[in-house]
Amino acid sequence: MIILGIETSCDETAAALVDDQRRVLAQRLLSQHAEHRPYGGVVPEIAARAHLDHLDGLIAGTLADAGVTLADVDGIAATGGPGLIGGVIVGVMTAKALSVATGKPFLAVNHLEAHALTARLSDAVAFPYLLLLVSGGHCQLLIVRGVGDYRRLGTTIDDAAGECLDKAAKMMGLGHPGGPALERAAVGGDPARFALPRPLRGRPGCDLSFSGLKTAVRQVLDRLPPGPLSARDRADLAASVQQAVTDVLVERGARAMALFVEETAGGAEAPAPALVVAGGVAANGTLRAALDVLCADRGFRFVAPPLALCTDNAAMVAWAGLERLRLGRTESLDFRPRPRWPLDPSAPRPAGAGA
Ligand code: ATP
Ligand code: MG
Ligand code: FE
Repeated sequence: MIILGIETSCDETAAALVDDQRRVLAQRLLSQHAEHRPYGGVVPEIAARAHLDHLDGLIAGTLADAGVTLADVDGIAATGGPGLIGGVIVGVMTAKALSVATGKPFLAVNHLEAHALTARLSDAVAFPYLLLLVSGGHCQLLIVRGVGDYRRLGTTIDDAAGECLDKAAKMMGLGHPGGPALERAAVGGDPARFALPRPLRGRPGCDLSFSGLKTAVRQVLDRLPPGPLSARDRADLAASVQQAVTDVLVERGARAMALFVEETAGGAEAPAPALVVAGGVAANGTLRAALDVLCADRGFRFVAPPLALCTDNAAMVAWAGLERLRLGRTESLDFRPRPRWPLDPSAPRPAGAGA
């Protein structure tokens, strides 16, 4: 079984082919970072136009790279949301058109589910597993019970972790996208130099919060000499921010681990529980190392997909489409792109939070 996947929900235009042997046959990806950099963030209209300009060529190139034609493909999957609606429409309409032209089934993939199931493509992780989803727009702890079956244990009550890193990096003049720039700037920095808050530490539950951290970074910057940061201050502040975000995720993650064990307690023969990290922030080396230590300490298996599968890509969309097709969950051509599409619709929506 071969699935074509299309990703256009933010500022990456991507196409990929995966098969049911968990092989990525080919993938092409075009990041629009340079186009958005002058604005310090993603501009939806520019993103939508760029997807429209490049998607067809990326799909043709991906098919050529893999040496297959659309006749060899068993289904066409596109991110159907959540995301910037103009981009999602471009991907969905392209997938629907290809579906009509070829008679192959159309699969509408939830972008968050694509992040969530990536570890089954990279590492064949079995259900259920605990998921820390940390991306530009989302920050959640979930029990992944099966395809389309999620229980949310906690979510951010304000900003996502990636959003916090992006905003801190922007205030520090590190450029866009902020997460990777901040990670580079932090090399050699002292993570204990600036005392930044760890919001919600010690509070019950698994919800997260990052807006206080962002405000604290602003206050640190206001106390430092005006003008560009010295190399030392830049490295120390970047390292301090990265450590604060990591500490919050580790503390909240530990609470979720305890809940996961309670809810899924298997018999004596049950395999070790797994913690999977997914989403763009999961590419961060400091976070990965800290979660690895946490898992070793708690008897969890730690699963972190390769960096290129953490940030947005189409292989994860193709894989989620494949998992859905295997269960017969195709979508009709009436599917409407969904700007908001929570993984666990039964979970309460905290004030001011995203999907
Ligand atoms: P969502 O998946 O919530 O819809 P998105 O698709 O825009 O949002 P992703 O591409 O999954 O998000 O992740 C992008 C985020 O990951 C950005 O906030 C970016 O700064 C962050 N990020 C990427 N690489 C790193 C890194 N090495 N360290 C920290 N953060 C990173
Ligand atoms: Mg992106
Ligand atoms: Fe994403």
